[in-house]
Amino acid sequence: MTRELAIDWIESESRNWDVLVIGGGATGLGTAVESVSRGYKTLLLEQHDFAKGTSSRSTKLIHGGVRYLRQGNIALVYEALRERGLLMRNAPHLVRDLSFVVPSYDWWNGPFYGAGLKMYDMLAGRLGIGLSRIISKKDTLEKIPNVEP
Ligand SMILES: Cc1cc2nc3c(=O)[nH]c(=O)nc-3n(C[C@H](O)[C@H](O)[C@H](O)COP(=O)(O)OP(=O)(O)OC[C@H]3O[C@@H](n4cnc5c(N)ncnc54)[C@H](O)[C@@H]3O)c2cc1C
Repeated sequence: MTRELAIDWIESESRNWDVLVIGGGATGLGTAVESVSRGYKTLLLEQHDFAKGTSSRSTKLIHGGVRYLRQGNIALVYEALRERGLLMRNAPHLVRDLSFVVPSYDWWNGPFYGAGLKMYDMLAGRLGIGLSRIISKKDTLEKIPNVEP
């Protein structure tokens, strides 16, 4: 449907919308899907193209905000972990596990990241998706052969 046709259709419908969503990025699209699935007449307006804005740049990770831990923003990490857990619980068709390896090159990296990630696991609480663990150099190189040894 062209933009002109879409506008004509919206105007000719002259219906009472239950929900009007402005902005077709991840937030707006998600809101519109939820709204429609609950039976509300929903109009989603986007000024450019769907997911053209910030949403086109996202790596699409439902991360628990681990980088905010380094900034000492515990409240934000806690909130992000909670959101991550709720998404895994409520939208298992959209969210799946993805493991990360954090290579450490200095003697202090292991305890530093190890302690941080343990705290991260604890903050996730019941909504956690598995515990962080330390793996050997050999295992690391097997899993990611291109990493700088
Ligand atoms: C490099 C990068 C990586 C990221 N990685 C992650 C990640 O891994 N995980 C994560 O959770 N988040 C990540 N983010 C953040 C995430 O991308 C944003 O939080 C999210 O995309 C915001 O979505 P949004 O719908 O709120 O905004 P947007 O995607 O910007 O959508 C807003 C939309 O509203 C439209 N709009 C604005 N004003 C109007 C108007 N007046 N009328 C009609 N339409 C209008 C715009 O055209 C736009 O399409 C990342 C962001 C960046 C930049």
